[in-house]
Amino acid sequence: MASITLENLVKHYGAVEAVRGISFQVEDGEFLAILGPSGCGKSSTMRMIAGLEETSDGGIYYDDKLVNAVRARDRNVAMAFETYALYPTLTVYENIAFPLRSAKWKSERVDEKVREISHTMELTDLLDRMPGELSGGQAQRIGLARALVREPAVFLLDEPISHLDTRQRHRMRQFIRHLHLELQYTMIYVTHDQEEAMAMADRIVVMHEGLIRQIGTPDEVFNDPADDFVAGFVGEPPINFLEGSLVQSNGTLSLRFRGHLIPLPESLQSRGDSLPSEIKMGIRPFYVNLRLDPDEPYDLAGEVFVVETLQDFCIVSIDVDDERLQVVAPLSARVQRRERVHLKLDPEFMRFFDLQTGKAVGLG
Ligand code: ADP
Ligand code: MG
Repeated sequence: MASITLENLVKHYGAVEAVRGISFQVEDGEFLAILGPSGCGKSSTMRMIAGLEETSDGGIYYDDKLVNAVRARDRNVAMAFETYALYPTLTVYENIAFPLRSAKWKSERVDEKVREISHTMELTDLLDRMPGELSGGQAQRIGLARALVREPAVFLLDEPISHLDTRQRHRMRQFIRHLHLELQYTMIYVTHDQEEAMAMADRIVVMHEGLIRQIGTPDEVFNDPADDFVAGFVGEPPINFLEGSLVQSNGTLSLRFRGHLIPLPESLQSRGDSLPSEIKMGIRPFYVNLRLDPDEPYDLAGEVFVVETLQDFCIVSIDVDDERLQVVAPLSARVQRRERVHLKLDPEFMRFFDLQTGKAVGLG
């Protein structure tokens, strides 16, 4: 196994700057996710780590060894990419066996290993088929099995389960996580799906437009996002943003949002001088509480736009003036479309960003 270090990695395709100088280290045995929207440079980064794409600038190290000039096949990595094609003339069995045969494993061991992984990944019924006879999801699972059957220094998985249906995706997610915990492989896992990254990774690198916005544990990127992009990208339903000015009124520092004054948390009351005057507050839908008793104090008043009932809770969207907020509420709340409701925000979970730069403020 190996640790991997990226130093100021850059990738241009002609005028397109896909990766604009990123640095991070994956520890030996760590599960690191690279998360970001489509087109942010995740696959370019992975392909450079794998050796499938030349770097435009910067360095890639496996342990302490610079590997920029080392060919892909000499890097001892196993890869499963979204579009990594199966060998069309080989059966599913032989596709999965291929890396083991190339590594000159004895055929009994190959057979044992192929059957074991096929069993765990529920592929046994497909072993005799040809790639042309598979659905997209099946082909992708076989591509993943072919990667996972190996015992390389590093696993590089780029959206390896994106074509599976929800249930299978969940199973594969658990299986990959399990495999990592059992065998402690170094894994880099690319995804645009924040839930996948949050559920699986030890740490997450959040990318946007070729740059890193934050590196942290799932807990850190969720609870202490470095900027408003990370705050908005991670979490479902997404965080609510309320933009406004900071004002002092009756000795209390508050955010003025439309016609409402929302007091800042106690910890920030004495720190008005260190905060920008124009602020974006972020608060997750779990921490906005519906106040059904009209006599209880509240921060905001609005009108219910729509109620989505999920299994054991509902997501209520509420129009506060021209801003639509989302609230996670218990089924017992029983609010109706067009009903007027009061909202109370939990100060402990308010996060603040500079409206100009988007950077988190008021930390520590
Ligand atoms: P992601 O995997 O995050 O969706 P990519 O790394 O695939 O992002 O792409 C990053 C940017 O680089 C995009 O703007 C994409 O269009 C561009 N790009 C990727 N590969 C190529 C290529 N071979 N030639 C030209 N542009 C490319
Ligand atoms: Mg990609």
